[in-house]
Amino acid sequence: MDHPFDLLLRNGRVIDPATGRDGVADVAITAGRIAAIEPNITATASETIDVTGKIITAGLIDTHAHVYQHVTGRFGLAADMVGVGSAVTTVVDQGGPSCMTIPGFRHFIANPARTRVLCFISAYLVGGLEGHLYPELYGPKQVDVAATVKAARANADIVRGIKAHAEIGGASRWGLEVIKLGREIARGAGLPLYIHLGQLWPMADKTTVDADEVVRALLPIMEPGDVLAHPFTRHPGGFISGETGEVHPLVWAAMERGVTIDVGHGSHFSFAMARKVLAAGILPTTLGADMHGYNVRAPGADGGERSANPFFGVAPFSLTHAMTELLTLGMKLPDIVATVTSNPAKMLGMADSIGSLQTGREADISVLDILPGRFELRDNSGERVEADRMIVPCFAVRAGQRCALDSPLIPAPLRLAA
Ligand SMILES: [Zn+2]
Repeated sequence: MDHPFDLLLRNGRVIDPATGRDGVADVAITAGRIAAIEPNITATASETIDVTGKIITAGLIDTHAHVYQHVTGRFGLAADMVGVGSAVTTVVDQGGPSCMTIPGFRHFIANPARTRVLCFISAYLVGGLEGHLYPELYGPKQVDVAATVKAARANADIVRGIKAHAEIGGASRWGLEVIKLGREIARGAGLPLYIHLGQLWPMADKTTVDADEVVRALLPIMEPGDVLAHPFTRHPGGFISGETGEVHPLVWAAMERGVTIDVGHGSHFSFAMARKVLAAGILPTTLGADMHGYNVRAPGADGGERSANPFFGVAPFSLTHAMTELLTLGMKLPDIVATVTSNPAKMLGMADSIGSLQTGREADISVLDILPGRFELRDNSGERVEADRMIVPCFAVRAGQRCALDSPLIPAPLRLAA
């Protein structure tokens, strides 16, 4: 029998911040595209999935991933593990590929992945080798502005921004010179600059750098559309001043100028810092799970089963788990959905093609569930928080095809006794 639709998702709660839609509807897919979003579609489909009680969103976008597998050593995870296997249809590698290694990223990572793989290209010649383990590779002499602008422009379909770091270890060696070069690259390429906040490298011998001073010097350099990452970091140099214990006043000025905020969860996230920043009225623009081989256990990654460094150890993890944390901190569900759909689509300059569920667009969809109960959430400063709901992934539809939820990174919800 011929069916008008290939796939029908029936009776889910469609949340689409880009169009303001929030209500129960069916979503029909034909020839890889969304054919209809309406309540009670009567026409049949080759495959119908009842998603009653579940959430249907545009395909989730992880704005902070590390998927340059094999080239970034233990750091890089398999793209489809972080992506469609976790019900995330787009991942944005932050600073893995560089002007020297972008061809390999396209050929070996982006092309074969079922997930849409994009990147913010590293400002540094070497990119994110072994997770930026060797600080001496990241000084101003290890940057080639013209070559990186050229590489970004030549690969504009997958390079959607520039990545650099502003933190005290680098500042103790070179001040913020590298950030200024990163800004030059971003301007030349016409792309946003994504800045890592919070300590990454150890300080150079016999130096002291004031983390607050680094933030104060950084913010005026940032331009509209640029992204500040790790606002909730437990390391020095995030949004909370070490001097006052309050949000840096310059953060508001930067936001008013159009600078956006990415959570960049990873091992940086601290509930205590997040509470303070949110209480000050600052909502993150985008989420970003920031999973890599040092903070999740990644079976099948380089070297097979590998224990995470116990110092970091947030594994296993998923973007939806980070969504649960924002929900538990009091953010509203549609605002959280915006941080993984419409807002990142804008950050990537792709709001006309991804990040929203609209008839005629390519079928790029995530289906999630919200489990009721009592759950425990943990951060890397040792805090434990009780959650009364847990957002979990069900499956993704990427380019019209349903993808199995098969990532070993998805955590089993940690249920507390009733
Ligand atoms: Zn990262």
